[in-house]
Amino acid sequence: MKILVINCGSSSFKYQLLDMNSDKVMCSGLVERIGEKVGSLTHKKDPGTDIERKINEESPFPDHTAGMTRVMALLTDPVLGVIKDLSEIKGCGHRTVQGGEEFTQSTLITDEVLEVIQRLSPLAPLHNPAAIQGIRVIMKLLPNCPSVAVFDTEFHTTMPSKAYMYAVPYEFYEKLRVRRYGFHGTSHAYVAAKAAEFLGKKQADVNVITCHLGNGCSISAVKGGKCIDTSMGLTPLAGVIMGSRCGDIDPAILIYLARQTGMSIEKIDDTLNRKSGLKGVCGFNDMRDIHTACDKGDEKAELALNMFCYSIKKYIGSYYAVLGRVDALIFTAGIGENDSLVRELVCADMEGLGISIDLAANAARSSAIRDISGKGGKVKALVIPTNEELAIAKSTLQVLEGKKPDSDL
Ligand code: ADP
Repeated sequence: MKILVINCGSSSFKYQLLDMNSDKVMCSGLVERIGEKVGSLTHKKDPGTDIERKINEESPFPDHTAGMTRVMALLTDPVLGVIKDLSEIKGCGHRTVQGGEEFTQSTLITDEVLEVIQRLSPLAPLHNPAAIQGIRVIMKLLPNCPSVAVFDTEFHTTMPSKAYMYAVPYEFYEKLRVRRYGFHGTSHAYVAAKAAEFLGKKQADVNVITCHLGNGCSISAVKGGKCIDTSMGLTPLAGVIMGSRCGDIDPAILIYLARQTGMSIEKIDDTLNRKSGLKGVCGFNDMRDIHTACDKGDEKAELALNMFCYSIKKYIGSYYAVLGRVDALIFTAGIGENDSLVRELVCADMEGLGISIDLAANAARSSAIRDISGKGGKVKALVIPTNEELAIAKSTLQVLEGKKPDSDL
């Protein structure tokens, strides 16, 4: 059984074809700069293996259909392809950022479902229209292949109202749907399930704090397999400090900026989303560049690193209080999986909470799930590589097979 996974942006998309009998990624790729004079495509057959074959193409892709058409040709290419015929693809899973309160689980796409996703677009103006575009292209190019929407928000729909409501006039919620939704749900769900498996326990018996630290960063409190709170909010701008997003700030800063500088809403939006976070403080948004700068004595880089780790630590503390008992603290995504110094700084001085890490285990590099806990710590500190594409493919398969999606991935 082969499932195609699409993660579509406004001028790019990523794809993976997975063999669900073995969970193996048969091929993966990225099409970028759609609509520009020259676009680019990277396609990898057997990615990450000894027999990986990779091509890069530069060519114009006037729209998503053109890019996807080229991908379809590559999937069946005699040399770079992995299937003989497109009919071998039994379903397509689409990463869809905003599912609102309407979608509490992954859903087979119909015209009605598309309409609802469209209606939710004001809540995710960059993401939902892009996902819709991807869905429409696949429906056109693979008319017999069912499409499934897998929502970033669905894992967080179990949050209680006291966690998702904001203390603003109630009608903002009723009329404008202003509430916390949370994002990166597929990743939080995946690593929380993997942690239970790693600990040899049922998900229902395990409480975890999941730290997804990539370009975007979010933290979730997961009680017995269900999300009870998460750091991102109405949008992915909230929560911990991120590469170029500010995370939690005093909302009055926006008002102050507008009054003092006359900045427009668009300018404030752009500044807080793209010019803030680590980048705003020190000029770098990639953690690897920050470490290099720190090694050269760059004080702003040092400050950005310390602010980042401190903001994560504060969330861990508050979610510890919310959960009451924590079995594991999980690090995942680009920074979470690779950055031992960030993990060390985040976990420093938390012995009182039963959290400590073993420096040697923490420093060892590996792509496997690993326990980096210090001796005697009652909370396991785990590094769990996330795999959002596999999670999306599994959800897609469950929907197609008519099984109720759950987080027992
Ligand atoms: P996304 O959120 O876009 O999926 P990733 O999860 O791939 O991103 O994370 C990307 C980020 O991870 C990069 O911006 C970089 O800061 C960080 N990163 C990747 N590799 C390393 C590394 N070896 N050490 C420190 N940070 C890393």
